[in-house]
Amino acid sequence: MRDLAGALAQRRKQHLYRHRRTIDGPQGPHLQSNGQALLSFCSNDYLGLASHPRLIEAMQQGVSLYGVGSGASHLVCGHSKAHHDLEQALADFCGQPRALLFSNGYMANLGVITALADRHDGIFQDKLNHASLIDAAQLSGGTLRRFPHLNTDALKQQLDVSKYHDSIIATDGVFSMDGDIAPLPQLLQLANTSDSWLVIDEAHALGTLGIHGRGCREYFGLPDKIDRLITVGTLGKAFGTSGAFVAGSADLIETLIQLSRTYIYTTAPPPAIAHATLASLRLIENEDWRRIHLTNLIQYFRHQAQQASLPLMDSETAIQPLLLGSSECALNLSEQLIDKGFLVSAIRPPTVPQGQARLRITLSAAHQEEQIDQLIHAIVSSLNSSPLKRITT
Ligand SMILES: *Cc1c(COP(=O)(O)O)cnc(C)c1O
Repeated sequence: MRDLAGALAQRRKQHLYRHRRTIDGPQGPHLQSNGQALLSFCSNDYLGLASHPRLIEAMQQGVSLYGVGSGASHLVCGHSKAHHDLEQALADFCGQPRALLFSNGYMANLGVITALADRHDGIFQDKLNHASLIDAAQLSGGTLRRFPHLNTDALKQQLDVSKYHDSIIATDGVFSMDGDIAPLPQLLQLANTSDSWLVIDEAHALGTLGIHGRGCREYFGLPDKIDRLITVGTLGKAFGTSGAFVAGSADLIETLIQLSRTYIYTTAPPPAIAHATLASLRLIENEDWRRIHLTNLIQYFRHQAQQASLPLMDSETAIQPLLLGSSECALNLSEQLIDKGFLVSAIRPPTVPQGQARLRITLSAAHQEEQIDQLIHAIVSSLNSSPLKRITT
């Protein structure tokens, strides 16, 4: 039998132990935790919609209309009008014929990859892809090939010698721990020449990237109608609710309904969440100011951080990590920031590669410039007073 206590102690010694913090009250830049007021820079609520009055009202209305539980899976009797309307609205938003709702992004990625790949197939993934895409490839039984981060030349070499029956290229749109953007046009070209599917996980891009918030495809100005491109979107980040969806051709969606085990063998999410998400989509479509404000905050943050010589990474998105190096250093800085009233998470291996522990700062349209000033000031004073010298790479 495994020595669990021993393994946990070992983890703690390596500064890799994870624990949960309890938040009392709604999401937003101002959080209450264990009686302490904290200014948060770590949520994925990029547009500040998670506690928006319009969404709260829509959720309450959804509960009045549909009750709380969905009662069954989508294929039995759990597929409500709220789900159906949201699917069509999300498909329209993404410029795709159809969309299919999943309970969350993890399950959407498992569902789409396992439906399209089996042991004869190859799944080509960026090394820094989200865990759910990696797990999806493993679960599918296909061969997982990983290429160096953003390196389309390496991917091309892998594809050139590939002997698989079918191939899928999968990538995060915006990388969750780095904030950089996948080279979608080049990936699409490689998908074309190798006759592969291209799955793009838009978890951190939908709502924030592109003039209308439609994600990487819009950011790169790619046309709507690309059959081999499959979009996965999540709803728990910029949308401020919960759930996920896959958007693509009608044949793709019908295939997922027939084959996706993470779609078929699970209870449909509460219809009220779909009802609230529809309200969120309308805000995203109609109120550009949040995206504009967020873009300005990102530029402001980078400018101020540069002035303070902080170890910025190459990101133009709402994810603005500071690269610290050791887990101990990242953890120490995060703890010092808590004492000063700022909540920023330390991201350590195995979430990021060894020696690349970082502080993952995320910005939201609900932040103000003064709050960024306060954060940077707190980081600088923590680093200066820290006995640990930061490792710059
Ligand atoms: C958060 C995230 C997911 C998982 O989505 P959930 O709805 O939280 O399960 C998938 N992919 C990426 C890139 C993510 O950042």
